[in-house]
Amino acid sequence: MENIYLKINKLSERYRDYTASNLSKLVQIKSLSTQEKNVQTELKRQMEEAGFDEVKIDGLGNVIGRIGKGKRILAIDGHMDTVDIGNIGNWSFDPLGGEIRNGFVYGRGSVDQKGGPAAFVTAGRMLKELGFNEDLTIYFVGSVIEEDCDGLCWKYIVEEDKIRPDFVISTEPTNLNVYRGQRGRMEMEVHFYGVSSHGSAPERGKNAIYMASKVALEIEKLNERLRQDDFLGKGSITISEIISKSPSLCAVSDYARIHIDRRLTTGENKEIAIKEIEELIKGYDAKVEMLNYSEKAFTGIEYGMEKYYPTWTIPVDHELVRTGVNTYKELFDNEPVVDKWTFSTNGIMTCGVYGIPTIGFGPGNEILAHAPDEKVPVDDLVKASAFYAGFVYELFRR
Ligand SMILES: [Zn+2]
Repeated sequence: MENIYLKINKLSERYRDYTASNLSKLVQIKSLSTQEKNVQTELKRQMEEAGFDEVKIDGLGNVIGRIGKGKRILAIDGHMDTVDIGNIGNWSFDPLGGEIRNGFVYGRGSVDQKGGPAAFVTAGRMLKELGFNEDLTIYFVGSVIEEDCDGLCWKYIVEEDKIRPDFVISTEPTNLNVYRGQRGRMEMEVHFYGVSSHGSAPERGKNAIYMASKVALEIEKLNERLRQDDFLGKGSITISEIISKSPSLCAVSDYARIHIDRRLTTGENKEIAIKEIEELIKGYDAKVEMLNYSEKAFTGIEYGMEKYYPTWTIPVDHELVRTGVNTYKELFDNEPVVDKWTFSTNGIMTCGVYGIPTIGFGPGNEILAHAPDEKVPVDDLVKASAFYAGFVYELFRR
């Protein structure tokens, strides 16, 4: 019998133009967070055309395509919303053109990250064609609202759809490397309460801006001493906004607020990060507040969560990482780099919150994410589609 990986490579090559053209169609449909309706309709159509066993759109707007009905559950996730175009003057082509030329698909979302879903639709098509029938359910998920609130879509899938996979592949761009983690993040605000007095007699008041400024300088120092991790790097903290109020421009300010962007490395979590700030504001009339995200999805339902996106990693010798590495070697006769993302992904929910082992493998270079002139090599799409199909066979090889 012909080697399955050889077959998969041949098929993914045969579907080269099909995959590129599916991606082009997805890129041509603008899909900012909470406005994904049209792109989701197209993705659903593509899954149906590819012969998936079942395709539906859930209450939050996630497209969920299923192949197989085995006991173990694998989910392959790719978010379908993109960030906006930014300054059009920085683009040398039409960001919504979806042009295919010189071996690339061009446009917003080609890398971050409609390329992943385009590749997994082809993988599904190949699995059906190859008659894959092992004891496995595969959910191919085109998720929503990731750019605004990573992980929210997966909270919905686990809590409301009641789908809880045993493992997850995220198709965010990894340059075809195997990723196994990322730093977490959270957003906090600190409120400072002062006492106003006439600006001509500041000694009678308590200036909230001075309080906030002193704490801001302490936060700058805190950044220097945050925990370091060999794999994920250092935790970090910065202030992204400072806002103040005063009864008049001739008065002592009685209120100030700072907005904090905190990146969390291994060993850091919400409780630790809040405590650090509480230490810094001791002696001030001030309080720390965690923030919430809540928005209306295109389906009309309102859904949200706390803006806490926990750190996650899985060990380099974890079965899932090993399966990814072996799949890569079998297909491409080469050793993949095993690494991590710089940015945040839905892995913060699947692995960070629910503890479901998660890896990343996706087409495109992450440095083009959110940047002008975003484009993905068609070769990457072909390899990614082969990888997703090969992976499910590799799971059953031992
Ligand atoms: Zn992304």
